[in-house]
Amino acid sequence: MRISRGALLRSAAAVTVTLTLGAGATACGQDSSSDSGDSAKGGTIGIAMPTKVSARWIADGANMKKQFEKLGYKVDLQYANNDTSQQVSQIQNMITKKEKALVIAAIDGTAMNEVLQSAADAKIPVISYDRLILGTKNVDYYATFDNFKVGQLQGGSIVDELGLKDGKGPFNIELFAGSSDDNNTKFFFNGAMSVLQPYIDSKKLVVRSTQTALNQVTTLRWDGATAQKRMDDILSSKYSSAKVDAVLSPYDGISIGIISSLKNAGYGTAKKPLPVVSGQDAEVPSVKSIIAGEQTSTIYKDTRELAKVAVQMVDAKLTGGKPEVNDTKQYNNGTKIVPTYLLQPVLVTKDNYKSVLIDGGYYKASDLA
Ligand code: BGC
Repeated sequence: MRISRGALLRSAAAVTVTLTLGAGATACGQDSSSDSGDSAKGGTIGIAMPTKVSARWIADGANMKKQFEKLGYKVDLQYANNDTSQQVSQIQNMITKKEKALVIAAIDGTAMNEVLQSAADAKIPVISYDRLILGTKNVDYYATFDNFKVGQLQGGSIVDELGLKDGKGPFNIELFAGSSDDNNTKFFFNGAMSVLQPYIDSKKLVVRSTQTALNQVTTLRWDGATAQKRMDDILSSKYSSAKVDAVLSPYDGISIGIISSLKNAGYGTAKKPLPVVSGQDAEVPSVKSIIAGEQTSTIYKDTRELAKVAVQMVDAKLTGGKPEVNDTKQYNNGTKIVPTYLLQPVLVTKDNYKSVLIDGGYYKASDLA
């Protein structure tokens, strides 16, 4: 492929702006900066996203599309309805259509081996987006947030809200984790437990369900209704004469399910306040819940920035440059250590949501009203 000087200059610009916050933005953090939409010199980039159920993936896809188009690429953006076989066949189609590169947020990180062998045979580079693709050498780079830190922030918000560092307690806590087929799940959980375990050991935190191992607390496909059902079961079997004070939740959609369960069980009154509940993704229903004093915290991950990292990786790979990475140790996918760029997550509470989410241009005040 012949690269024009203009395209090269644009790629260089993309690399250097990687970590500076994007300019205009609309609801869901979708980059709204206008562009002339260059002709498609660079060929088509295939983007495989998991689901439209969660707003973050819609923002991720839209942000990447906009940024790729600005660099002169076409985009084939697909969502797979949280269905692994649908996602694999979407990726296979992208390969058949000889798309230039693939950016994949896997539904099941272990299910990509065969299809990515076809990608490698066709010399199509692969970027693992946010979730690490496991068990294959055919993944070139990984763009994500510091996932262990996400968990530490979630656990830390529970410690702070309960006043555990001031010696308060004991308190009752229940633990929820994400989908067992998502590599991020164990990073979030281990990060949170690195903060919470010392208080469980000292009995300042008590898990009445006794479910503390990761395989006892996962939530398939991050489904809020599944979490709600598990919380219902725990409340009816373990809390008829006790009150839950905190719930570790890995993701906003799960937090909303947990809070519904708690409200159905009579929590949310002056006599029986809602427990501390964590979250992740700063999705609108959860930010509104935080403003209303229900959910306690969430983790903000700026999808505009993650899109920039993935776009610079693809563009560098396709134009003979070297993708920028900042972690070459943590992310072993079982076959190789995948060179990674980690972005920093931010804890959001009632105290800072305005400065982080509204002043930062991720949401408009009216989105949260
Ligand atoms: C992402 C989280 C998200 C979760 C559910 C994880 O892989 O890192 O941001 O909350 O999937 O969609």
